[in-house]
Parts: sequence; structure tokens; C-alpha cells
Amino acid sequence: MIPRTLFDADLDGFRDSVRKFLEQEAAPYHEQWEKDGQVSRELWTKAGELGFLCPTMPEEYGGVGADFRYSAVIMEELARAGLSGIGWGLHSDIVAPYILHYGSEEQKQYYLPKLASGEMVSAIAMTEPGAGSDLQGVKSNAIKKGDHYVLNGSKTFITNGQLADLVVVVAKTDPKEGAKGTSLFLVEAAWEGFEKGQNLNKVGMKAQDTSELFFQDVKIPETHLLGGREGQGFFQLMQELPAERLQVGITAVAAAEAAWQWTLDYVKERKAFGKPVIAFQNTRFKMAEMKAEITAARVFVDRCLELHLDKKLDIPTAAMLKQWTTDLQCKVMDECVQLHGGYGYMWEYPIARAWADSRVQRIYAGTNEIMKEIVARSF
Ligand SMILES: Cc1cc2nc3c(=O)[nH]c(=O)nc-3n(C[C@H](O)[C@H](O)[C@H](O)COP(=O)(O)OP(=O)(O)OC[C@H]3O[C@@H](n4cnc5c(N)ncnc54)[C@H](O)[C@@H]3O)c2cc1C
Repeated sequence: MIPRTLFDADLDGFRDSVRKFLEQEAAPYHEQWEKDGQVSRELWTKAGELGFLCPTMPEEYGGVGADFRYSAVIMEELARAGLSGIGWGLHSDIVAPYILHYGSEEQKQYYLPKLASGEMVSAIAMTEPGAGSDLQGVKSNAIKKGDHYVLNGSKTFITNGQLADLVVVVAKTDPKEGAKGTSLFLVEAAWEGFEKGQNLNKVGMKAQDTSELFFQDVKIPETHLLGGREGQGFFQLMQELPAERLQVGITAVAAAEAAWQWTLDYVKERKAFGKPVIAFQNTRFKMAEMKAEITAARVFVDRCLELHLDKKLDIPTAAMLKQWTTDLQCKVMDECVQLHGGYGYMWEYPIARAWADSRVQRIYAGTNEIMKEIVARSF
């Protein structure tokens, strides 16, 4: 076994407390949340009280000033437990950093403590019905009128979309331009003209609220343009996306490890032709092959995590990690379902849910085809 060297006793203790919290406060409700299409709001406030939201935010903004390893522990524990409805990673480690890095002092003081306490849930709205991979094709527009902007347009597939109180919205401030005309705005869901549409019916991640959002003449104060200058949106997205892709890689490997372990437990128990399924050479070889690949992925992701802690994780490496680990995750899930036989296809078995949940990892945060484009452009 290759020991993980990035985590010390403090982080192990933190991991234990996250794990216990999730066992008590989340796992028993997951099935209900799947029916509801979203997790409870209460879970967010409870997590906020314990410092599980936005742990990396500085103390003056309501966080605990922890390093990204603490966030990684939370992501891993969520993935390990198959609690795919809980959108903390996006809230804490994607949206909050946009505010920390590009928000005004006033916005940081106002919003970040609310995100850290769970008083506000956040989302990021890039994708539109007609623009996903090609973000330059975004049609939502925010046009300056005096001291405010007027936002019109619609978004789809937005994680935390039903629960969100605050959304980072990608919109064109100059609709004639592509990247150069794109800006990011901090938009509150309570503002007039902001409508939440359907909670979308997905193949997996059923406890996660993924929504359409509509904007009709939403008045945004000019101070809510992130970074204070128009046309910075693409640059800001490019800066933040490697962390998002690292996050996907972290969850992919943790989920694959968990699936492998569930499968090992299962094939030791399950009997066919008078012997445990693990006794068949095919099972042993499949388990061995998966073990090797998951181990390689673990080393890869931990090294990227280390680079990220040193602020050295570059865009192509993060893209490579996202593509390779999520392809592997899906392959592992599929093999593990196969080794469970028919039970692997039953929703009550964690492997069935994990298989369905995993599929989207190759699609969001930039599809794996786009990841390969990014990598190939760097040669
Ligand atoms: C569950 C879920 C949660 C999501 N959460 C969010 C969220 O919180 N916020 C948000 O903004 N978005 C979110 N998304 C949207 C997601 O990021 C997009 O679905 C994704 O970027 C792909 O865009 P698209 O669906 O429009 O596919 P398209 O861009 O239409 O792609 C269709 C196919 O064409 C391929 N393709 C496109 N361009 C190229 C190219 N240049 N070269 C090769 N192949 C290409 C794609 O790889 C894909 O296979 C989420 C999606 C899902 C399903």
C-alpha cells in the first residue's frame, strides 16, 4: 500500500468528525432527500455550526482559515458515503472563492459569513439551454443602465439551484463580444425578476437539486459586478476552474475507492457454484486491476492536491486529472456493478446509486472531451 502523506493527526480527527456527522445527520435521510429532489435546509445550518462549510475562508469572513486539505476531507467523506445530494463542495470551494478573490471588501464581509454559517446557499450559473461547453455562446445579458445592470436570460442544470440564495451568474455585458464581453455577477435569488424553474429529473444524484433559473429584468447594483470591471468573466472562470476540476478528481477517486471496498465485501460473502464469488479468477483479477488503477489515481490526485496547496496546479494538469479520474470512476463503477450481479442493479444497493451518480462526473465541470482539448492545446 502507498501511504497518503498529506494528512496528519489533526486532519484524521477532522475526518472522523465529518464522517460521524454525515452518518448521523445525512445518511439516514438520503432516501427521503432522493424523493424530495433536494437535501434539507437544516443540514446546511447544522454543517455551518460545525465549521464544515467554507472551511478555507479566512476567519474575518466567517471561515476557520483552514487549508484546502480540510475541504478535500469533506469532499472525500461525502463521496465515500455516496451522499451525492449535498452540494457543499460547489458552495464552499467554488462559489465562495469567487467572492473571496474577486468580491469587494463589503461583499466579502456581507456574503462570506452567511455562506460559512449556512444562512445562505450558493450556486454558480454558467450553463444555458443553448450554451454549455461553448461558454462564449452565453446569451444571458446584463446591460448597464445608470448605476445598475439589467439581467435577462436563462440558465439550466444549476447545482443547488432550488436551495440557492446567492448565485454567481455568467452574463454578457457586451453581447456582441465572446469572451471579452463576458462578466460575472453576484445575484440574490430574492431579487425581483429572478425565478427558479424546474428541479430537473436526473438519472443519478437524485437528492441534488439541479435547476433551471430565469432572469427577467433583474436589477443588479453595479457593485455586484465581480471584480469591478466588465469583460473579466472569462479570465476569472479560467483562474477558478482548475480548483473545480481538482474537486471532481478528489470525489472521483474517493467514490471509486468506496465502490471497490463495497464490492470486495460483497464478493467475499456472495456464493455461486458452491464458493464465494471472490474465489473465481475473473473476480480476483478484476479486483486486482481496479486496485492498481485506483492506487495510481490516488497518487495522481494527492499530488495535484499538493500542487494546489502550493498554488501550482496548472490548467492542463487539472484538466487531465478531471478527465482521467472520472473515466476511471465510471469504469470502476461499471465493473463493480457487474461483480454484484443483479443486486448491483438494485437501487437499494449503494453500488447501484454510485454507478448512476458517477456518470455525470464526465460531463460537468467541463466535459471530458473539452478536458482533452485543453490538454492537447498545451502541447
Ligand atoms: C447534474 C449536473 C449538474 C450541473 N451543474 C452545473 C452548475 O452548477 N453550473 C453550471 O453552470 N453548469 C452545470 N452543469 C452543466 C454542465 O457543466 C454542462 O452540461 C457541460 O458543460 C456540457 O454542456 P452541454 O450539456 O451544453 O453539452 P454540449 O456542450 O452541448 O456538449 C455535447 C457533446 O458535444 C461535445 N463537445 C462540445 N464541444 C466540443 C468540442 N469542442 N470538441 C469535442 N467535443 C465537444 C461534448 O463533450 C459533449 O459530448 C451541470 C450539469 C449536470 C448534468
